[in-house]
Amino acid sequence: MAPSPFMLMDIPIDNITMDEALQRIFDAAVSYTPQTPSSHMHFVNAHCINTAAVNEEYRQVLIRADAVFPDGSGIRKAGTMLGVPVKDNVNGTDMFPLLCRRCAEQGMRMYLLGAKPGAAEKTGRWAAEHAGKEVIAGTRDGYFSPEEEQAVIDAVNASRPDILLTAMGVPRQELWLHMHRDALKVPVCMGVGGLFDFYSGTIPRAPLWMRRGGIEWVWRLMMEPGRMWRRYIIGNAVFLMHIKKIQRNMRKEGRKQP
Ligand code: UDP
Repeated sequence: MAPSPFMLMDIPIDNITMDEALQRIFDAAVSYTPQTPSSHMHFVNAHCINTAAVNEEYRQVLIRADAVFPDGSGIRKAGTMLGVPVKDNVNGTDMFPLLCRRCAEQGMRMYLLGAKPGAAEKTGRWAAEHAGKEVIAGTRDGYFSPEEEQAVIDAVNASRPDILLTAMGVPRQELWLHMHRDALKVPVCMGVGGLFDFYSGTIPRAPLWMRRGGIEWVWRLMMEPGRMWRRYIIGNAVFLMHIKKIQRNMRKEGRKQP
């Protein structure tokens, strides 16, 4: 049995491995029927926790999600500070090739929605080259007006994907999925942030040694300093502050994480 999730601001973070996360996704996809609601599974990193601290709607969406995956070295550090050894770094970018492979094995398909025009399509081409073209149900960019929303939903539904990946940034992608939960007839929906930028080659991904050392954020800061300095330079300190506060409250109340 999977261990209980640990709590960050009442958001239950599933302390599971990448393999276990994939199992959850494909189990949900297999057991879906048009009468059951879609499963929403999201990745949560330090930036997401900082966002949830100031965006109650987003925090509620994460609290109600069907799974919340522990993404990145910040969540691992938070776990250590709160006495929870975090089992794995379950992030979308490492998961994507595994998702492609599992889709090919199980005859399932993904729809890629998000990023600048061309990036989802190129990511689809990457998937086709690595796992076969049948794993992609469709693609479209993430820049559309409220008037175009229904057409986007119709296009996704018409392509009958098993998994919908939205790459429109945190928290927009999660809030968008939540808002259209009933309209989207897709077994599993997940927000994946900048994933299409990496697989389309728009932004190079950090070298393996940086990823293994838990400092991928330094690379992302180097690649997009103008946009990322606030997220990482200020954000890392703010995140630490939030975790220290949770730690203090737990001590005061004599509570332990599960
Ligand atoms: N994006 C989008 N629609 C928008 C705003 C952003 O599709 O209205 C895309 C953007 O092009 C980029 C991704 O969302 O590909 C956000 O990437 P980021 O690395 O910021 O994701 P995060 O780390 O915030 O999840």
